[in-house]
Amino acid sequence: MAGEKPTPIFRNEADLARMPASDRIRYRLIGANCRYHANDNIADYVEDGELDELRAEVEEQMEGVLRALVIDTEGDHNTNDTAKRVAKMFLTEVFKGRYTAAPMVTEFPNVTRLNELMIVGPIKVRSACSHHLCPILGKVWIGLLPNEHSNLIGLSKYVRICDWIMSRPQIQEEAVTMLAEELQERVKPDGLAIVMEADHFCMHWRGVKDDESMMTNSVMRGAFLKNPSLRREFLSLLVKKA
Ligand SMILES: [Zn+2]
Repeated sequence: MAGEKPTPIFRNEADLARMPASDRIRYRLIGANCRYHANDNIADYVEDGELDELRAEVEEQMEGVLRALVIDTEGDHNTNDTAKRVAKMFLTEVFKGRYTAAPMVTEFPNVTRLNELMIVGPIKVRSACSHHLCPILGKVWIGLLPNEHSNLIGLSKYVRICDWIMSRPQIQEEAVTMLAEELQERVKPDGLAIVMEADHFCMHWRGVKDDESMMTNSVMRGAFLKNPSLRREFLSLLVKKA
């Protein structure tokens, strides 16, 4: 009727249960006004058992992609289970950083009041580009200048946090910023520096087929921005470690 406001779409539990899991999760994300870009983590909106439902959905759609590529997945023993393998790989391996909660990390108060430059790395990076879903393989170095109020975390925990952020379709510049934000929040250092150097396979496999496809970028925060000698010290130590 003219002038009448459209009824907001509200779905009750029974409606939601009948929807594919991806639509159900999307419904919750939109309701919560939560962004769900390729490199966002959506674990808070995925309920128990839904990851398996997503896996089945992706498998079915992937089978459709192979069909559209005119590949005989029934006759060809090599591609019989490809859709299943790809779905599992996306959801539980290479993109698992979208669907799993942040790693549990115990933070310790800085009792000995460490305030010297600390470098962690190189940490192995395994990611994929959001544009082509091609692998990105590389290394990350983290520089930290703690203060007496900083929370320290174990060395292996940097690896787990890094892996959680990188195991998503990413854009290198956004990946380093996301990692910086996560570490700033947890460690609260006076200074934070991150350098990532990575090889983008979409540059080898397709497009220009350029073998010089290493990309390096960095984020500098706090003391690393204000103090050029600290920045130089960090960068010079990386050269020696690489
Ligand atoms: Zn790409």
